[in-house]
Amino acid sequence: MSYDDQNVFAKILRGEIPCDKVHEDDWALAFKDISPQAPIHILVIPKGPYVSMDDFSANASEAEVAGFFRAVGRVARDAGAAPDGYRFLANHGDDAHQEVPHFHVHIFAGRDLGGMIRRPKN
Ligand code: AMP
Repeated sequence: MSYDDQNVFAKILRGEIPCDKVHEDDWALAFKDISPQAPIHILVIPKGPYVSMDDFSANASEAEVAGFFRAVGRVARDAGAAPDGYRFLANHGDDAHQEVPHFHVHIFAGRDLGGMIRRPKN
């Protein structure tokens, strides 16, 4: 899948649409999810044009990978989430219901997050 530079997170990175920013550095931008699923729900995205975790893990440089994951940990710590715990999650592709085709990590915290995966009803 090639990168679509009209996706909503690409527009946020270019400053074309606003976000509720909590962190920015050379490698990552972090902002609050527009539809939070927990008291703390932050998205962390790399600055580079990567479609998903699959693309990022295969094609990003060592510096991009290190810088990005350092930022994820820092954002969780700065949000106060580390002592009580948090979950970070990245959806890749259709089975995971990835909606936005720019790699992003969700950080959830601020309440008991329950079991890891809820099975769909069928
Ligand atoms: P995913 O299903 O992993 O692709 O998640 C995409 C996430 O992006 C969802 O949790 C949305 O609520 C969130 N989202 C979509 N548009 C925006 C936006 N403009 N600002 C902040 N979060 C957004």
